[in-house]
Amino acid sequence: MDFTVSDETRVMLELMEQFIQQEVIPLEPAFLKTSLSEIEPKIGTLRGKVKQMGLWGPAQPKEYGGMGLSLTDFALVSEVLGKSPLGHYIFGCHAPDAGNIEILHDHGTHEQKSRWLESLVRGEIRSCFSMTEVELPGSNPVMMDTTAIKDGDDYVINGQKWYTTSADGAAFAIVMAVTNPEAPPHKRASMIIVPTETPGFDLVRNIAVMGHAGDGWFSHAEILYHSCRVPRSNLLGPEGEGFRIAQERLGPGRIHHTMRWLGICRRSLDLLCKRAVTRTIAPDQVLADREIIQAWIAESAAEIEAARALTLQTAWRIEHLGWKEARQEVSMIKFVVANVMQRVVDRALQVFGGLGMTDDTILAFFHRHERAARIYDGADEVHKLSLARKILKPYRVRAEEIKEGSGVFR
Ligand SMILES: Cc1cc2nc3c(=O)[nH]c(=O)nc-3n(C[C@H](O)[C@H](O)[C@H](O)COP(=O)(O)OP(=O)(O)OC[C@H]3O[C@@H](n4cnc5c(N)ncnc54)[C@H](O)[C@@H]3O)c2cc1C
Repeated sequence: MDFTVSDETRVMLELMEQFIQQEVIPLEPAFLKTSLSEIEPKIGTLRGKVKQMGLWGPAQPKEYGGMGLSLTDFALVSEVLGKSPLGHYIFGCHAPDAGNIEILHDHGTHEQKSRWLESLVRGEIRSCFSMTEVELPGSNPVMMDTTAIKDGDDYVINGQKWYTTSADGAAFAIVMAVTNPEAPPHKRASMIIVPTETPGFDLVRNIAVMGHAGDGWFSHAEILYHSCRVPRSNLLGPEGEGFRIAQERLGPGRIHHTMRWLGICRRSLDLLCKRAVTRTIAPDQVLADREIIQAWIAESAAEIEAARALTLQTAWRIEHLGWKEARQEVSMIKFVVANVMQRVVDRALQVFGGLGMTDDTILAFFHRHERAARIYDGADEVHKLSLARKILKPYRVRAEEIKEGSGVFR
């Protein structure tokens, strides 16, 4: 495995870093004090600049106006853009649109692509992904109550979803609904495109998450699908293949997430160090002189590098050997990096003391909103169980032999 960065990629990353530092981070105080809709005009201006620089849509297909970067290159981009909560949005590679673009690109019909994909890649519309239900465990999504029943040329959808991120203001949702109730559990659900203007698509509320309901792209909605009727041509991919397609989307998606989290780690550690060398704690002494702070810095730096190496190795395996060959690593990075991020952000916040609890730095925002990393896209426990199951499998097969044969030392 070779992670040498080409000159072209290095120049691109430097340009992006500069843009994040000089243009995007200065927008954060307004984002924290007001709302996303208040700063949308400024975001629009920055998006225009990004497009002029040829840096729009790093992960999106070239034929639709994106940069078409490889997974490993996009991982490096994600680390840079992740330093600000607005980074991915301003560069046109934000969740959940990025994942939905991938699904539409790989599974959409010609008609679906021309209606939705082009304007989605250009950032003219937004979308959302509606799978998790209020009453059933998102960790075991084959338990699903939402149905899509065929009626003539239509599907009629009924169900109650929540945590549909970015539904507020989205043009369409990709909804997971049971279309084949008699099939084996993993073959029961399908993905269906539902334009949000469809009668029966009822956005009940933007859920307050850690005390903040947000708006627009930065929100999570509860949605009632109430006799919501869409043409059968809105089926995305084959019927009954919803879970398979969702799995395909989640593999690379976890690389995007984890590298974004590493960007958050880097920003937090940078802030921690800046505070540590400037905060006087006793006459002629700053926080950075204390060994406990030095230990946090060293631990954070080492944890970030280890998490990064594991993530890049996983990206490499997905790219060169395929998603199935990288399943164990994908599980590992999901919980390893989420926990590294939580520790690093927490240490940085602690070093800032009372100031860390305010919105005068970005750390409290990270602390509130990135806690969810240990829950979405598979909770820590689910990934650990799945990984341990795979590791134990050959041992279980040989359990008797191990017991009878070699004793406890071999
Ligand atoms: C910020 C945020 C954004 C989200 N965005 C979206 C979105 O855009 N679209 C969407 O459809 N969903 C979204 N979700 C929902 C997310 O996918 C679910 O929250 C997640 O899958 C967990 O499901 P749950 O909340 O129902 O928890 P449950 O499934 O009820 O699990 C609760 C807890 O139980 C434990 N647990 C679960 N299974 C096991 C097990 N087998 N063994 C041991 N312990 C276990 C874990 O600790 C877990 O956290 C989002 C969630 C958050 C927080």
